[in-house]
Amino acid sequence: TYVIAQPCVDLKDRACVEECPVDCIYEGKRMLYIHPDECVDCGACEPVCPVEAIFYEDDTPEEWKPYYNANVEFFNDL
Ligand code: SF4
Repeated sequence: TYVIAQPCVDLKDRACVEECPVDCIYEGKRMLYIHPDECVDCGACEPVCPVEAIFYEDDTPEEWKPYYNANVEFFNDL
């Protein structure tokens, strides 16, 4: 799955939402989240993010790895 990290916080550009073919990017209070089960790993969202907040899960920079769990927890709490 792809993961949205810190640069999205309080920005929520939403360019990625337009690109996602399966509409699996959802809006939270302070950032957007990718549904880990619905994402088909197409990668379309990653290059359109103006602040490079989106990463393939294994490529997420070390300091932003916790965002993987933040994405999962967002959907657990729904
Ligand atoms: Fe949507 Fe593709 Fe991005 Fe997954 S990788 S969130 S399916 S655009």
